[in-house]
Amino acid sequence: MERQSGIQSIDGGSRVLSAESIVELNERFRTAGPEVVLRWAIDTFAPKLALASSFGAEDMVLIDMLSKLEPATTIFTLDTGRLHEETYDVMERAREQYKVTIESYFPGRDAVEALERERGFYSFRQSIEERKFCCRVRKVEPLGRALKSVDAWITGLRREQAATRTGIDAVEIDASHGSIVKINPLVEWTEPQVWAYIREHHVPYNALHDQGFPSIGCAPCTRAITPGEDVRAGRWWWENPETKECGLHLDGKQGAHGTGH
Ligand code: SF4
Repeated sequence: MERQSGIQSIDGGSRVLSAESIVELNERFRTAGPEVVLRWAIDTFAPKLALASSFGAEDMVLIDMLSKLEPATTIFTLDTGRLHEETYDVMERAREQYKVTIESYFPGRDAVEALERERGFYSFRQSIEERKFCCRVRKVEPLGRALKSVDAWITGLRREQAATRTGIDAVEIDASHGSIVKINPLVEWTEPQVWAYIREHHVPYNALHDQGFPSIGCAPCTRAITPGEDVRAGRWWWENPETKECGLHLDGKQGAHGTGH
């Protein structure tokens, strides 16, 4: 194993960061701005770097930034089979406007067939366990496949998005995905900053945002919110807020994190 500037190369060429360098990076990135974080991510990890996108507002900001910094950066999405029509529409607009390739990861066919055959089409409404089972089949397993070939992934997480996200940093080790690096360039941003960027740079966005959906996931598990409600209130609204993550970002630090998913 060799170490250079806090970056360790391990067998097979993967690159990981030392704990000390992560502390330093997060200190540096606290006021640096997302483009600086992305530039560092590209210089450090490309081409074994990917953006996980559910095509929410934050993800669209990151796609716009990446198109200017390194348009060849891999963009992938988890096509759960239960997405809104409006989400496919914005995915297509992103393809056209930025000339990017979007890699879809589907859930395993056998697993979805068994899920629907044995548990029905709305099993996720029955209990938290059933909901997590569906998320495991449709999101967690495909995400694991998507991340197998990268050393680092980028998400649109922001700290102020939810009770489960207050402890996140710009750069983290993702213990639940082989200890690769997880990069959250928008961690310090507020929702008004996201929308100011979208307006200023004419970034396409999901039409559902104009219909009261701040957070967009699968159609049957997402609803519009009313003024004053928490931004995550429209996701799995029948559950306790402390448990409302889909399991994509479990780690050993504080439990569940989430992406825009
Ligand atoms: S968000 Fe709902 S439909 Fe989508 S994977 Fe999770 S439980 Fe299933």
